[in-house]
Amino acid sequence: MTRRCPLVAGNWKMNGLLASLAEIAAMGGAYDSALRARLELVVCPPATLIGMASDLATQASIGLGGQDCHAAPSGAHTGDISAEMLKDLGARYVIVGHSERRAGHGETDAIVQAKASAALRAGLAPIICVGETRAEREAGDALRVVGEQIEASLPADSPDTIVVAYEPVWAIGTGLTPTVADVAQMHAFARERIEARLGGGKSAGVRILYGGSVKPANAGELMSVANVDGALVGGASLAAKDFMAIAEAYRVIG
Ligand code: PEP
Repeated sequence: MTRRCPLVAGNWKMNGLLASLAEIAAMGGAYDSALRARLELVVCPPATLIGMASDLATQASIGLGGQDCHAAPSGAHTGDISAEMLKDLGARYVIVGHSERRAGHGETDAIVQAKASAALRAGLAPIICVGETRAEREAGDALRVVGEQIEASLPADSPDTIVVAYEPVWAIGTGLTPTVADVAQMHAFARERIEARLGGGKSAGVRILYGGSVKPANAGELMSVANVDGALVGGASLAAKDFMAIAEAYRVIG
């Protein structure tokens, strides 16, 4: 059976000034060799900090990721950054299709797929976000919506190094989380749909993260669910103390 190394990734969103780089150093201080053997840790600061975070993250054995990329490698796209630019600064990952970008920037599944392909072209692993809205869950449509997002957002020729993050939109930043049973159902379903999309048994190697109000208090329970291979953490990733308390859950998860 394929062993998937758990991944806990922090999405700082539009937060963080130069002083926030101290949090990365503090995370490194708590990321001891026993924990490093159990999980991979990644921080996705705003683009303004990635260059300066690079050496710090390397020293701390923490991976770096971007929060978005343009589909093109370069060109006349004012304000955008490419996957190649992120790679150039030392990033290994990039989040694509976060619900805040789907909602706030009109990103469709086709755009998300093009960005994921761009990440792979540049040698980055895309963290491809999917998830239903509250109305879709209440209408009983959560599985259908997420299944369709997986089908349309993942490049068909993806390697198993891609990461999929299931983030119910209604759970992001709200303090609400799905039940353990709902998370188990969705993650098992997501793996089936990833296999249907990629084929060749590749889904066994793809890490599926849960995201949405993960906190130190609920990380152990959520990360222990079958097919949950880690977390995408927003608010609780800004302070090293909280982020590392979430990572600590893996010290005891088998
Ligand atoms: C996110 O934005 O990806 C996220 C999961 O946010 P939070 O942890 O704050 O709910």
